[in-house]
Amino acid sequence: MLSAVIPIYNEQENLPELIRRVSASLEQADADWEVIFVDDGSRDSSTQIIRAAHAAQPRIKLLALSRNFGHQPAITAGIHHAKGSAVILLDGDLQDPPELIPELVAKWKEGFQVVMAKRRSRADSAGTRGLGFRLFYPLLRRVSDLPDAPDAGIFGLMDRAVVDQFNRLPERNRFIPGLRVWLGFKQTSVEYDRQDRAAGQPKQTLGRLIKYALDAMLSFSTRPLRWATWLGFTCAGFGFVIAIVYIVRRMMGVDPAAIGFTTLFTMMIFLGGIQLITIGILGEYIGRIYEELKQRPLYIVQERVGLD
Ligand code: UDP
Ligand code: MG
Repeated sequence: MLSAVIPIYNEQENLPELIRRVSASLEQADADWEVIFVDDGSRDSSTQIIRAAHAAQPRIKLLALSRNFGHQPAITAGIHHAKGSAVILLDGDLQDPPELIPELVAKWKEGFQVVMAKRRSRADSAGTRGLGFRLFYPLLRRVSDLPDAPDAGIFGLMDRAVVDQFNRLPERNRFIPGLRVWLGFKQTSVEYDRQDRAAGQPKQTLGRLIKYALDAMLSFSTRPLRWATWLGFTCAGFGFVIAIVYIVRRMMGVDPAAIGFTTLFTMMIFLGGIQLITIGILGEYIGRIYEELKQRPLYIVQERVGLD
């Protein structure tokens, strides 16, 4: 059986077409299938549309969360409930074309256990968000311990063996595309052209996307902490050299008072800034430690339709 997991947050405009296209693609794969729509606290008629779809086709299932938990927790909830021997993840705004599913399944049948859908191009790369999207992966590869993370979002397929290991990961601040690379197994990718969302506004706020990007970088590396250390050494070394220069000049009888108020003030602000930034980096890690320590569940299920 194939399971498709789709997070939904206020996607009433996209759902009818999404349901039609996903079902059609899964029908082609000559296997039993299920689609798990994870309703992440939608406030429009998304839930009703999914319920009606379930009444007409029981392979379409609903997992309703008790409120809006966010993209990654919603997907995780869906993966936890998926029964298939392969699990396919895709977004609910038709940015990930369901027509690619047969290609993912074909790779899986060739023996690959992780098939990632890599973006050959993307239509949503305008404006600030788009700039962030384009900069994100090059930056991630530099900062994190995922040097070959492909330019792939959640869209892709995981074999049951991989899903079982995924379900053992306890962390709260998660970046699923990174975890998927980290899990290993036999991985491959197929390429596609990422569309713009079919209808409606993006449901992830810029703030959420920034948090997501930070999760991605910080949860796969402690390198930023080391940068802070090196920055400290560099500043201290610079200070030491300057001190020697002044002492020598004083001994040679040269008046050292060449530095005025403006220079001092600029240096003070500059160093203060560097210190605050390094404290900030430290804080990002400590905040995440705190989140993990609280051990709160990642999501809360309010209702299951067609699922046990
Ligand atoms: N989504 C969700 N919970 C949220 C935000 C988004 O389940 O809090 C869903 C949304 O309905 C969509 C998918 O996650 O199906 C991707 O969201 P969006 O298109 O807004 O993100 P982007 O494509 O801008 O990364
Ligand atoms: Mg989208």
